[in-house]
Amino acid sequence: MKSLNESEKELVQKLVNFEAAFDEFVRLAQDLRIMVRNHSEIVGVYPEEVKQTVLTPSELSQKVREINEKKDAYEAVCDDCGATTTVKFKPNPKWPIRCLSCYKKHMAEKQNE
Ligand SMILES: [Zn+2]
Repeated sequence: MKSLNESEKELVQKLVNFEAAFDEFVRLAQDLRIMVRNHSEIVGVYPEEVKQTVLTPSELSQKVREINEKKDAYEAVCDDCGATTTVKFKPNPKWPIRCLSCYKKHMAEKQNE
């Protein structure tokens, strides 16, 4: 297996940092929700905006993923094989659209250059 080059390592590090920050964010949101809920119980007022159920971090990130998938899924046709695929960005006519398998093939070819 090839080792990562510097810019790839940097990207991986960015992702690791982002995921750590995201976990922290989810934890803070949970803490806040618990605080609001506890306060609501004391004063007897339950704001509708605040969900009464506390989700686990994995349930919450699953929800975020579902929302993002719905929001950012665009149907497109793969430029390489013509298959219908969904992409996470608004298709730009200047950029090639590839389905997952063509994308993987393309990346593998690039690695071997
Ligand atoms: Zn394809």
